[in-house]
Amino acid sequence: MIRVGVLGAAGRMGRLICQAIVDDPELALVAAINPSHAGESIGRMIGHPEVDVRISDELDILLQSETEVAVDFTTPAAVMENVRWAIEHAMHIVVGTTGIGPAELAEIERLIEDEGNESNVVVAPNFAIGAVLLQRFAAAAARFFPAAEIIELHHEGKVDAPSGTALATAERMAKAREEAWEGPASETVEGVRGGDVQGIRIHSVRLPGLVAHQEVVFGGVGQTLTIRHDSLQRVSFVPGVLLAVKSVSARPGLTVGLEPILGLDGAPES
Ligand code: NAP
Repeated sequence: MIRVGVLGAAGRMGRLICQAIVDDPELALVAAINPSHAGESIGRMIGHPEVDVRISDELDILLQSETEVAVDFTTPAAVMENVRWAIEHAMHIVVGTTGIGPAELAEIERLIEDEGNESNVVVAPNFAIGAVLLQRFAAAAARFFPAAEIIELHHEGKVDAPSGTALATAERMAKAREEAWEGPASETVEGVRGGDVQGIRIHSVRLPGLVAHQEVVFGGVGQTLTIRHDSLQRVSFVPGVLLAVKSVSARPGLTVGLEPILGLDGAPES
């Protein structure tokens, strides 16, 4: 059994992850951290009153509970402090929280090395397997269809726009396509053509009722190709997170994204 501690345990994702850990025979939920809910029973919160774990406001609970793998679904403002703590305490950590850019990834790699390579870290901006596949398919198609736009749609509570997944998709497509294409830019209403990332327009829709959706529309001579993924419920992220929790101890250093964990290391374009 892998002993798991969840940071952001009382949040929307945190509760789902705690539930999934309790339901998984290979995993044990041994710690839950969420300062604003300190003292409450995580078991009661997730409908498993038999789970005897109190929510804590102290990272030290991870040491006291002998946590082997920490999982972070907190906030962009909190996540790096948690990651630094895990690395300094030789603990593996799986990070789903968004807001970790290239500078933070470089810091994580440096810290892991400075602390003697005892902590493994997985950072994945999107744990939904379908969303990961969409990015690969879009990069493969970009070689043949340089003209493309991205429409990403999320719930109204999402603070960042565009989504990290849309940005990453555009960057991969731009890298994969041989000829650059930039669509018409003229607008009579400012912003109506979306944001430009390396010549690929991204349109961000924010509405109640949505979860996480992305469509890539390619245009060619007399034809279009549309690739779309829909996360209909947050539970779509859970299998990817559990896979990362189970494999992080065997992945030295920093792993970015779900693809290497799924065995999809090769370039999709080939
Ligand atoms: P949420 O419902 O707001 O949950 C975040 C939780 O973290 C809240 O309960 C919050 O508590 C708690 N928290 C804040 N600071 C903390 C700290 N220092 N230590 C421990 N807990 C802390 O948000 P969510 O929808 O679950 O999403 C969480 C993050 O995951 C976001 O960045 C989101 O974009 C990301 N996400 C990633 C994926 C993926 O596939 N990688 C999927 C879904 C979401 P209070 O609010 O009570 O202060």
